[in-house]
Amino acid sequence: MTDFVFSADAHMNEPKTLWADTLPTSMRDAALKTERVDGYIVMSGGGKVLHRMKLGDGTSGDERHGKYEIAPRLADMDRDGVDAEILYPQLGLMTCNLVEPDLERAHCEIYNDWIIRNVAGYRHKFVPVALLPVLDLAMAEAELKRCVALGFTTAMVPCGLPPGVPAYNSDAWDRVWAVAAEHEIPIVFHTGTGPDRVFERGAGAAVLNYLAVSNICIDAIAKMVLGGALDRFPKLKIVSVEAGASYLISLAERMDESYKQHKFYVSPKLSMLPSEILRRQVRATFQYDKSCIVARERIGLECLMFATDYPHMEGTFPHTRTVITHLFDGVDIDASSRKAILGETAAALFRLERKAA
Ligand code: MN
Repeated sequence: MTDFVFSADAHMNEPKTLWADTLPTSMRDAALKTERVDGYIVMSGGGKVLHRMKLGDGTSGDERHGKYEIAPRLADMDRDGVDAEILYPQLGLMTCNLVEPDLERAHCEIYNDWIIRNVAGYRHKFVPVALLPVLDLAMAEAELKRCVALGFTTAMVPCGLPPGVPAYNSDAWDRVWAVAAEHEIPIVFHTGTGPDRVFERGAGAAVLNYLAVSNICIDAIAKMVLGGALDRFPKLKIVSVEAGASYLISLAERMDESYKQHKFYVSPKLSMLPSEILRRQVRATFQYDKSCIVARERIGLECLMFATDYPHMEGTFPHTRTVITHLFDGVDIDASSRKAILGETAAALFRLERKAA
């Protein structure tokens, strides 16, 4: 028996000149782009450097041939035992850093038009994620509506927010959540998105920074619960991506504890416990998090979604089958629960088109 595997976290690199070629002429100098400079990959946009990474990406020997194009990607998926994937952007993860709302909106529109065109005919293999501008929430609402009409089934917002943008516990976001809830569009929070990615440079920095971006993601999830957004929109589902999933149980217990014991100060009051809202409406992707499978009944089986994070170095390629074997090794779990975690939950949530068997 082979498992149907849907990776709830994967990325497609945009063509190198996607924005430079497509933006209105007046904006082209500010296009998001990647360059190699003095042994570094330098990502820039809006006329400034946004991020630098040392060249040599940790994937030597296991080249990801499918990071730019569909055909070699399908071959890599086949080789690795992955049936279908959600597709997040790569450089497009940085659109919220572009400062100017019109520039951010234009980048999002171009990305969204490109990715949905790129996967046309492959919607049984790929779920494209719409990129929402966030510097102006009226633009976020408008782009979400446009993307629903284009056929997107999910959309992403950054975990961290640039200065001046209302936080996720503000009801200023309700105009966006209302559209998402009405059209059953899960809203995705992918780690590493937001104004900052580098917080530490000293000893342990590589791992400390990875933890920091996970914590920012978890903070966004907590704000969505405790600020009341999920309570006001009970049909809205949200997803943390690449923050692991075991955190859900500790977050649930900590939120309930404080919610009850600090109730004199708690505002807004929620219609049910934070843990109940979390379980009803929050989902999480993971790569290596065996603990979440062991604790699935406490967390909620329906909250867990396996992911490969292809083509990234922290992902499971080209060892996904081995990773899956280790994840379930020694765990007493029935076949339908295993299938839910490996693909069925995500395929249903993100409305992957399933071909008739
Ligand atoms: Mn990822």
